[in-house]
Amino acid sequence: MRLARLPLLFAALLAPVVTASIAHAQAKNQKASTAQTPGRAGQAQADDIIDRMTKAERAVLDRLRTSHPLMEVYIQNVAPDEARGWVPVDDNYFLGQLKFDDGPTLRPLGFKEPQRGVRLRLTSDPPNVGNAFAAMVAPDWRELDRKRYAFTYVRREFLGESRCFVFDVRPLREGKEGFVGRIWIEDRDYNLVRFNGASLGFGETLSEMLKRKLSFHMDGWRVNAAPGVWVPSYVYSEETDLNSASSSKASSKSKQQARFKSQTRIWGYQAQNADRTGSLTTIRIDEPNVADTTDGAAQLSPVLSQRRWEQEAESNVLERLEAIGLLAPAGEADKVLETVLNNLVVTNKVNLQRPLHSRILLTSPLESFTVGHTIVLSRGLIDVLPDEASLATMLAHELSHIALGHQLIDTKFSFADRLMVPDSELLEALRFRRTSKEEAAADEKVIELLGNSPYRDKLADAGLFLRTLSEQAKQLPRLIQPHIGDYMAANGQMTRLAELMKQAPTLMPNSLEQIAALQLGARLVVDAWSGKVALDRSPAVPLMSVREKIPFAVTPLMPVIRYAEPLDVGTPAVRTVGELRSN
Ligand SMILES: [Zn+2]
Repeated sequence: MRLARLPLLFAALLAPVVTASIAHAQAKNQKASTAQTPGRAGQAQADDIIDRMTKAERAVLDRLRTSHPLMEVYIQNVAPDEARGWVPVDDNYFLGQLKFDDGPTLRPLGFKEPQRGVRLRLTSDPPNVGNAFAAMVAPDWRELDRKRYAFTYVRREFLGESRCFVFDVRPLREGKEGFVGRIWIEDRDYNLVRFNGASLGFGETLSEMLKRKLSFHMDGWRVNAAPGVWVPSYVYSEETDLNSASSSKASSKSKQQARFKSQTRIWGYQAQNADRTGSLTTIRIDEPNVADTTDGAAQLSPVLSQRRWEQEAESNVLERLEAIGLLAPAGEADKVLETVLNNLVVTNKVNLQRPLHSRILLTSPLESFTVGHTIVLSRGLIDVLPDEASLATMLAHELSHIALGHQLIDTKFSFADRLMVPDSELLEALRFRRTSKEEAAADEKVIELLGNSPYRDKLADAGLFLRTLSEQAKQLPRLIQPHIGDYMAANGQMTRLAELMKQAPTLMPNSLEQIAALQLGARLVVDAWSGKVALDRSPAVPLMSVREKIPFAVTPLMPVIRYAEPLDVGTPAVRTVGELRSN
């Protein structure tokens, strides 16, 4: 039986004896091939690994057909800078649901062009660029198998805790299509964990758009969501090679060359799979202080009714955002934000009708907004904040709206139907904007709140962050724009907290001493399956070069691969006593 044979099979493939024989065979065939040739028995074993991978990969693609996770593509066009390496000069952004019907597509989430109609080099036709990036989620959407590809065993390697077989892959028939590169296959379920290389097909599509011949390079990662279930989570891409692929025709158009770095994140599988037909309109009351029937009252007083009405609107909005996968489930990272928030509340003796909460929007654009008594910060914003004082500053801005008694939620959302819109129209429905008068008042209040807080001596750093934000607002209009809340900066000008910015020292982009803002992905780790967010607690690495401190930069991100615990599945845990004992 195939399964029973497995452990032996790999023992054989991995054993030192075999390795030695590979080395021997290699020495003999050194001229013939630079790759390792594991001999006939080894070849059969390699074929077996590939066939299992093909089967597992088919299951991954089938899963993508039925689940529609969220997908975000953030692209930075970069230009060379003598001292700092590649610096962002322009950016682009796509957010949507990853769909796989006729082919991989990115169905946009009601995301409109920002008011400045900036045309970027990488956007002759935005939806198609989105689709091209959607295609990078897998090395080959048809089949990565031995019929169409040649696989060459390279070595074994650990990716996190998964032990992988590494193979080089190229299409059997040289042509316009297919994946060329390297794949990592883990040895428990034979899933692809990582693929790294170029896809000729997507390159074709993009070359057409960019009017330049381009091979499209990608580094894609899968993560283990549940035992045996692997899902795409992350793809990094970069094209910074100035010399490659410029045919004589293309070189005359060298100005149109796209040099970019991009991060594609895929998450929210669980949210998309959950049956939420019931939860769309349900109003959940979490807080014990709104329980009915207190003091034998026949009805809530007008004031209490109004408060509860607002609370219902808040719950409706938060639930809907969580259901679509845009808002991280309440968790550990929120507590960190709430601790900082509490420092501000306590030292300023802010009077609150009920406790404040903090939640994380899972998207990259830097934004914050308030939904009732919940302050929401985006993942991208938290990622790039250099320190606690600047986090406090962001929270203080929202707290100011609360302390000043500004309207915290539009009670139109108390009516359940307001949020029963298609997913694609949700962001449109949830556009919270404040008047400039309210914003100005809040900014004034921020200075006061921070002045009384434990952060009052560290405001220069927060100011530095704001200064960087304002400097980059022109180059990175897509990153520095909100989905839901207000602009922090627009047209190269701060639209909030400008006062605080003026107190900051000058920026020193060429000095390692000053870290004004971090790179994207620097702080938060998102679980692709559940959308849960955790703080990256690994110690900071001393920087070696100013190239490593480009603010807001897109970099590769390598997940630490772990096998999911059986109970993390999200399926109901029905366990008998006997089962427990056997564990
Ligand atoms: Zn505001």
